[in-house]
Amino acid sequence: MSVTNETTLAELQAAESRLLLQTYERYPLLFVSGNGVHLRDEHGTDYLDLLSGIGVCALGYNHPAINSAITTQAHQLIHTSNLFYHRGTTELALRLTELTGLDRVFFCNSGTEAWEAALKLARANAEMLRSEGKHIGTRFIALENSFHGRTIGSVATTHKAKYREPFMPVMPDVVFVPANDVAALRAAFSNEVCGIALEVLQGEGGINPVTDEFLTVARELCDSTGALLLCDEIQSGMGRTGKWCAYQHYSVLPDVTTLAKPMAGGVPIGAMLCTDAAARSITPGMHGTTFGGNPLAVGVAIAVIDEIKRAHLLDHVNSVGNYFLAQLRSLQSKHDAIKEVRGKGLMIGLELHSADLAKSVLGEMLKRHIILNRTHETVLRFLPPYLITTHHVDQTIAALDELLTQHIGSQFSVVSSQERK
Ligand SMILES: *Cc1c(COP(=O)(O)O)cnc(C)c1O
Repeated sequence: MSVTNETTLAELQAAESRLLLQTYERYPLLFVSGNGVHLRDEHGTDYLDLLSGIGVCALGYNHPAINSAITTQAHQLIHTSNLFYHRGTTELALRLTELTGLDRVFFCNSGTEAWEAALKLARANAEMLRSEGKHIGTRFIALENSFHGRTIGSVATTHKAKYREPFMPVMPDVVFVPANDVAALRAAFSNEVCGIALEVLQGEGGINPVTDEFLTVARELCDSTGALLLCDEIQSGMGRTGKWCAYQHYSVLPDVTTLAKPMAGGVPIGAMLCTDAAARSITPGMHGTTFGGNPLAVGVAIAVIDEIKRAHLLDHVNSVGNYFLAQLRSLQSKHDAIKEVRGKGLMIGLELHSADLAKSVLGEMLKRHIILNRTHETVLRFLPPYLITTHHVDQTIAALDELLTQHIGSQFSVVSSQERK
């Protein structure tokens, strides 16, 4: 077989089913290009993309700032290795430390690698404190419904059993507590703990925010022993919630944060940022990566940050996000099928009462050429490009309204259960 521009979706499906490790369940859609907030399939049909490649394509598709950074960088340098200097590392680190309020950066290539670095830093920090005579253990506290990635370390702090249990033993010494259960957090904490790990706004777990009180208590507990507070901002960071980091909606600064998904608009990159105090525990050779911080990825990340600033996209995310949330809430007052609307900025979850209905609505939205996804069974998740406008929101709300109205008339639930067969 050879793949050409004429190769059909069905042919690709057949080929992938025997060529690829079967890790993904894909939607039967084949995209060939994208522009702005739209993806185009092989028949030339445009889809409104409210998922942006799982929160990655924050500047949408075919963005001139990203295209130009890639071209410029390709003509200069793509890779040098971490044995040498290039200017981009300093330039991006200056921006990221300013945006996050943290002191130092470690660059890597994905979210899970950034999180892995955060876990290793917490262990190294505890080891350093022990060498200074303090009593501190190796345990992590993580939250129920968390998602932190898929390596043996990262997945150990990820709550979902399906992701963890086939690979046992994963990294030991992790306990999970229910999010926002301050008593459970206090009870789980002791000087055996080297880090408290959380997403201030859980993504995969269904768009669940932590409370002010919970985050404040987590900070105080860490301060009482020298354990590190690790905030995973891989999904919620880089402006997604209307601030550079979601923890900036609270009055707490973590010791460590992780960034990845939208950092370079789809070019793989991740970053772990930390305080000077925690960074003392790392010396040359202890940790590293071949590709991390390479000139191409770094150059694009700089362009993404500069474009978010130039186009005032944080303000835009706030205003269009508030509009989206308000429209969804008025939809909720109309449709009993909606359980809750949650989120901040352009990280939004619409929880329905039934997983089947959520699945059907998602399928029907795709048929109307609007892309979103479903997480935690019952939650429809929106992570659109920062460039969407109220016009795109109105289009989405109208489609959802129509679908949920049909559902009440129940023709739609009948149709979709037949189609599922
Ligand atoms: C996506 C995600 C990760 C993992 O990132 P990858 O780039 O897929 O490895 C970790 N934490 C959170 C909160 C995420 O959303």
